[in-house]
Amino acid sequence: MKTCNVCGKEKSLDQFYGCGNNSPYYQSLCKSCQHEYNLNKRRMARFGITSTEYRILVSQPCEICGEAKGRGPGKMVVDHSIAGNYHGVLCHACNVAIGYLRHNPDLCERAASYIRKTRGESDVHAS
Ligand SMILES: [Zn+2]
Ligand SMILES: [Zn+2]
Repeated sequence: MKTCNVCGKEKSLDQFYGCGNNSPYYQSLCKSCQHEYNLNKRRMARFGITSTEYRILVSQPCEICGEAKGRGPGKMVVDHSIAGNYHGVLCHACNVAIGYLRHNPDLCERAASYIRKTRGESDVHAS
């Protein structure tokens, strides 16, 4: 067993990467922390922000549905353009939803009208 320097959890050695061929030593952080670290490095390169800034961003509530707490950083998505410009923070579900609606406001409004119609609510846009 070995204790990870980052998450502080005690894990078996197969949860750690080795330090290269035939080395008896293991990395001081566990595989999941190593993955998180690598992801953070890529995010930082993409958004031009620090790991801490990223963590603050993904702890914000979703800008569409307001979902936030207790869902873990992986559940929140930093929305960005293809060029990498930062837009806002969304939960995974809302991000996927607007993706399917092609980030098109007209389609989103039509989707809203459709939902109102199926619920039998009067549609302010229809009349
Ligand atoms: Zn760890
Ligand atoms: Zn959401």
